[in-house]
Amino acid sequence: MDARLDRSTTWPYEDGEPGRFSYQRDDHPTGVACEEAIGRLEGGRALLFPSGMGAVTTVLLALARSGATVAVAEAAYYGHSQLIRLLEPWGLRLVEFDQTGPPPAGADLVLIESPANPVLSMPDFEAAAAHPAPVVCDATVASPLRVRPLEHGCDISLHSATKVLAGHDDVLAGVATVRDDELFARLHLMRRRIGMTISPDAAYLLHRGLRTLSVRLERQEATARVLAERLAGHPAVETLRYPGFSFLISFDVADADSAGRVERSLRLIENATSLGAVRSKLESRHRWEGDRIPGGLLRLSVGLEDAEDLWSDLEQALERA
Ligand code: PLP
Repeated sequence: MDARLDRSTTWPYEDGEPGRFSYQRDDHPTGVACEEAIGRLEGGRALLFPSGMGAVTTVLLALARSGATVAVAEAAYYGHSQLIRLLEPWGLRLVEFDQTGPPPAGADLVLIESPANPVLSMPDFEAAAAHPAPVVCDATVASPLRVRPLEHGCDISLHSATKVLAGHDDVLAGVATVRDDELFARLHLMRRRIGMTISPDAAYLLHRGLRTLSVRLERQEATARVLAERLAGHPAVETLRYPGFSFLISFDVADADSAGRVERSLRLIENATSLGAVRSKLESRHRWEGDRIPGGLLRLSVGLEDAEDLWSDLEQALERA
């Protein structure tokens, strides 16, 4: 379908009956066009949501029943565990596990992340796929151009499309992709019933971002490789975390105070949250995630700026670490 923006909330019936599109909450052409594009990248059928967390919430409501144990990789995006804790009054139970090994026996739903934001560990896909529970994999930091969880035996591939898929820090969106038609129908029905529908404007911007995804990613990744190598050799950097691909690098300086000084010394790189967009960003994750993250851990999302300009900025900021 065409990537055209159609803001209609209703479409006329055809011959007295609802046609492919009748009411925006169910489906709309701007969203479906974008879903088809992401589905092709992932090798499955995609569903859009108004945010990455909206996608996870819909998955939880569709698949987890009261009393269910949800096993979440302890390294995964902290918002996932926070959400499940918040849903404890609805009868969900959170168990965290090390995703480099098998998920705990008895889990009713498994959530892994490839690679995990911000420590950038990779999951053991084989061990996860061997678990009897449905497996959800958040691949936001990889993008479907680098990791396609459905090809690794996962049931649902999940993205915060707010990040590299959209790419410009101007749209909040989420996406879940599946292969199984029954699972697709369950997620689609839950999305309709709870009204977790992306707006046509957001879907349009996301679709536009997809058109440049491969060139953005290639350039961001090439720069990230250069910066990761140089950071690894920098005396102020104690630990470098880089999986060898992606635009995201995490590195540790001595402690939270040093990290704060680096943040405040940046001139070109924006000191802000989020990741994946054309503008480079760096932040301490400790401020959000507390003690689950080392105080000195800094997360750098590499954008499209010149690699040497970015390195000069990092070097001068690291002098104050
Ligand atoms: N997954 C990952 C890896 C993220 O980094 C984020 C947000 O930072 C989310 C999910 C949540 O996505 P959103 O902010 O679009 O709701």
